[in-house]
Amino acid sequence: MSYVLAPQTPTALSIVGSSALFPVRRVYCVGRNYVEHAKEMGFTGREPPFFFLKPADAVVPARPNEETLIAYPPLTKELHHEVELVVAVGEGGKNISAADAFSCIFGYAVGLDMTRRDLQGEAKKLGRPWEIGKAFDQSAPIGALTPKEATGELLDGAIELSVNGKTTQRSDIAKLIWRVNEIIEHLSAAWELKPGDLIMTGTPEGVASVDRGDIMVARCVDLMPLRVRVV
Ligand code: MN
Repeated sequence: MSYVLAPQTPTALSIVGSSALFPVRRVYCVGRNYVEHAKEMGFTGREPPFFFLKPADAVVPARPNEETLIAYPPLTKELHHEVELVVAVGEGGKNISAADAFSCIFGYAVGLDMTRRDLQGEAKKLGRPWEIGKAFDQSAPIGALTPKEATGELLDGAIELSVNGKTTQRSDIAKLIWRVNEIIEHLSAAWELKPGDLIMTGTPEGVASVDRGDIMVARCVDLMPLRVRVV
């Protein structure tokens, strides 16, 4: 078999305690999944889960002990950070029940759903798709994955983000409106999940703008922290 172009090398996340990499297939994202964040975006915080996607090659994988760089994207004057718990799917399926969801999980990481908020806001107002605001290049820096054998099922624990040493987002993953197992149930009813899929589970309140030169540090429970500089 030959190709007319060189096939893309898959984007791949580092794994804590392993030299092997996790190849990324799709990136599913959950919208408005913490009550206080839904409120700051002008919503009540109680609605069925909804999803959008980012391209796999929008992921910027962090390498252990290295700062991750992202370029300030074009067309925006309002680049927002959204710290999120990221779930990596190790075993796929359709119509996975919440009760069976944990068995599909490979592991967890902390990630950033970077958002061109001004462009997302315009798209919302015009009833247009969100890609311009959410699915741009380098919009998803993600830390190293910790396999679930080392974490157990993550149900609670701190999630936070600081910008230049000042905390802007701080919450607890126990406050997810739709828990990880429920997200997997809903997602797998709509799409067949496959190994390599990532799920960004939503962000808590405190989203704000960053600029060139800013350093974001994202943490979630005992997962490997993610340090990102905007250049
Ligand atoms: Mn988000």
